[in-house]
Amino acid sequence: MKKIILLLLIAVTGISYANIKVVATTTVIYDLVKEIGKDKVMVDFIARGDQDPHFIDVLPSYMIKLRNADILFRIGMGLEMWSDQLIDGSRNSNLKVIDLSSNIQKKEVPNFKPDASYGDVHPFGNPHYWMDPENARIMAKEIYKALSSESNRDESYFKKNLDNYLSELEKKIIEWKSKMAPVQGKPIIFFHASWIYFAERYGIITSGFVEPKPGISPSPSHNAELVQLIKSKGIKIIVMENYYSDSAPNQLARLAGIKVVKVPTAVYGVRGINSYIEMMDYIINQIVQNIL
Ligand SMILES: [Zn+2]
Repeated sequence: MKKIILLLLIAVTGISYANIKVVATTTVIYDLVKEIGKDKVMVDFIARGDQDPHFIDVLPSYMIKLRNADILFRIGMGLEMWSDQLIDGSRNSNLKVIDLSSNIQKKEVPNFKPDASYGDVHPFGNPHYWMDPENARIMAKEIYKALSSESNRDESYFKKNLDNYLSELEKKIIEWKSKMAPVQGKPIIFFHASWIYFAERYGIITSGFVEPKPGISPSPSHNAELVQLIKSKGIKIIVMENYYSDSAPNQLARLAGIKVVKVPTAVYGVRGINSYIEMMDYIINQIVQNIL
């Protein structure tokens, strides 16, 4: 009876209701799902935009989010090590887990099997592929495929949304490329090894990292080496995610006169950044303004 009333309500009011329930591990995925699913999809996310996605405390409320979900989208490649625990805890045997990295050209994949002593948060290669906008295109297509196979009758709706989004993204990709052209060949120090896809896309020289190893905190001896490097190469900026502590970068700024550029690498990472495109705009504008 309830279902009939609901269907009547939809027929009368023309309000469509979500056919697919989705959870995204990150807000970048969340944004892409919204663009393609629009009002046929109900979507929620786990990691906030200002949180370090490598380390998320597994909360019971996250398991509840997954309990009735149809699809969980994740970046994969070991970024969200915490997500397996969430999946188990959700006790949702119908949940489909979609790894968006399957068609990504992966970088820094180790040619050995890392063990626990390796001390690296990127044991399966570098998972920060969403920082290259060409990869956002691939992610959007993966999301379209998964949503369409979940709800066949909405396939053409999702396709239209995908095409619209890809053409919007294409325009921005051209704009970003021309904005970044003067930055090509310039050296940058990054805080964490999360910028390789971005750096290679725009021809930036990655001179070093504030972290001695991915996921390992900055140390005084490593900072001292960086001071020498900054001075000898004339490096102008450190680029870092805004969820890391800036105390080591600020020390480098005092000792070597380098500028610290803090940016979000997720949607909602700072106030006013409400989409992937706005996030990339912000990052590129910050880099261009500070390095040139
Ligand atoms: Zn990382």
